[in-house]
Amino acid sequence: MAWWLTVMLIVLILMILYCAFPTVWTRGFGRSMRTTGMDGTVSLTFDDGPNPTYTPRLLDALKAHDIQATFFVLSERALQYRDIVERMIAEGHDVQVHGSRHWFVPFLPPSAARVQCVGAAKALEQAFPLSVRVYRPTWGAANLASLFAVWRTGMILCTWNVMVGDWRVTEPNELVQRIVGKLQNQSVIVLHDSDHTFGAERGAPERVVQAIPGISEAVKSRGLRFVRICDCLGES
Ligand SMILES: [Zn+2]
Repeated sequence: MAWWLTVMLIVLILMILYCAFPTVWTRGFGRSMRTTGMDGTVSLTFDDGPNPTYTPRLLDALKAHDIQATFFVLSERALQYRDIVERMIAEGHDVQVHGSRHWFVPFLPPSAARVQCVGAAKALEQAFPLSVRVYRPTWGAANLASLFAVWRTGMILCTWNVMVGDWRVTEPNELVQRIVGKLQNQSVIVLHDSDHTFGAERGAPERVVQAIPGISEAVKSRGLRFVRICDCLGES
């Protein structure tokens, strides 16, 4: 085999190991927290915020329906909109980490990948009275460096098992129907409270806010109750 072909093959194998395998491991093989693990419960989680347009109104809707949720926030936005995060905490919601910015982690070098998980968690803990133990990678995609950093620090990877395409503008009733179609005992539902992310349609979280009453009704009518991700971790 020509030397350059050997080099290319080695680079390709290293790239697959570093970029692709961790995401297949996390999402394809389900080697992450995807359910609450507690009988009779459902967890409502929101990614990509906080957002000054939608998150306060989402908090109003959650309060009106007595739901405590989990927010996987971006640390840079959390520091920008501190008052919103402080309100989340004051109202009993769980705040965990989604990254510092909404970057695609698999292609990041090790140091930048560590910033997205452990670094962003530390930034949140320094700014707020929080214990951040759970990381949900942006787009659910990790690389070897972030997977190793999470494992070494004892953090937990959390993805989801109910996703309904709410980043596109979708009528609230349709969102509720899609959730009802996938809802199970112990479901972890992912929704989004920001439309600033690449691929999100402007105004989509507006419908998410409007869907909260229907989601609440659907979950409670099945005899299920809402729990936060931090309630599902066992020892605290
Ligand atoms: Zn996201």
